[in-house]
Amino acid sequence: MARIFPESSRSVSLAKKYGYDSWLVSRFLEYVPDVEGFLGKMESPPTRYIRVNTLKTSKEALADRLRLKGFRLQETVIPEVLAVKESPLPLGATNEYLLGHYYIQDLGSCMAVEALDVGEGQLVLDMAAAPGGKTSFMAQRMKNTGAIMALEPSERRIKSLTFNLNRLGVYNTSVCAMDGGMSESLGIKFDRVLLDAPCSCEGVIAKDPTRKTDHRPEDIDYCSQRQARLIESAIKVAKPGGLIVYSTCSFAPEENEMTIDKIIRMFDNLTLEPMKHGNEGLTMFGGTEFDPSLSNTRRFYPHVHDTTGFFVARLRIRN
Ligand code: SAM
Repeated sequence: MARIFPESSRSVSLAKKYGYDSWLVSRFLEYVPDVEGFLGKMESPPTRYIRVNTLKTSKEALADRLRLKGFRLQETVIPEVLAVKESPLPLGATNEYLLGHYYIQDLGSCMAVEALDVGEGQLVLDMAAAPGGKTSFMAQRMKNTGAIMALEPSERRIKSLTFNLNRLGVYNTSVCAMDGGMSESLGIKFDRVLLDAPCSCEGVIAKDPTRKTDHRPEDIDYCSQRQARLIESAIKVAKPGGLIVYSTCSFAPEENEMTIDKIIRMFDNLTLEPMKHGNEGLTMFGGTEFDPSLSNTRRFYPHVHDTTGFFVARLRIRN
């Protein structure tokens, strides 16, 4: 169950100042560093990022073309990702976009693929794939070799997934209309498994301010139950020695550290591996202590990392 904390004068005044339900701010005070800095940052539109599609162009060629049009771009910690500081037209309205030379993708979202360490010739499962931002990033890191199985149960979202894969020139990927919880029925063991889980999307409030008051504790409960089922399937279909990355765009510990803590207690062959970027994951929440290795998971915050909110865990199946 989602933990609810008592209101305080601070949570009430911050909730009033920034227009949130106070239960949500009381929770943020438990797990977000510098809450006032965070709430202030969520008031402005997030930094826009593009990921260069190296299946079709190079970073230098794309940057030259966009700069000639008046774009101002900046390097980030991921070589393929550029921050857009100024653009004379919407990012989805350039010829380069239509030609598939780039994908509009937050830096935090790219961190999940960075953590999965995909390589040429691998067999990869993307358990919750639409609209394909991470699938297509993996395909380009794999240089269109090996094979990706991309699962997505929503027919409507499959349309955007296949459209994006076509636009970006991805041809190592099969799309299946399927519930990720049924992955075992494929009868395949994968080198890499990505579970970019459906979540309550707490991390994207800056893009969708209605979530300041529409978000409910029940949403967290519903999502965390679905995530528990999906992560169990992910572990079962990974090869010994293989990697699983679990990610969400939520800050809620019930959808993140608590989900991972339960799974590492359920299976005795999992190691949580550290990652280079991001803040360490929580090892305690609401009086519950997690396995100390949960500090190897990573949290990304808008006011700290200039990304939308993101959580990433990297799990290795021991041989
Ligand atoms: N990975 C995608 C990307 O980077 O573009 C974003 C994935 S989004 C966070 C989560 C997706 O999971 C949604 O498209 C949703 O329709 C899908 N989904 C919901 N329930 C699912 C299930 N049981 N199995 C697999 N995918 C599911």
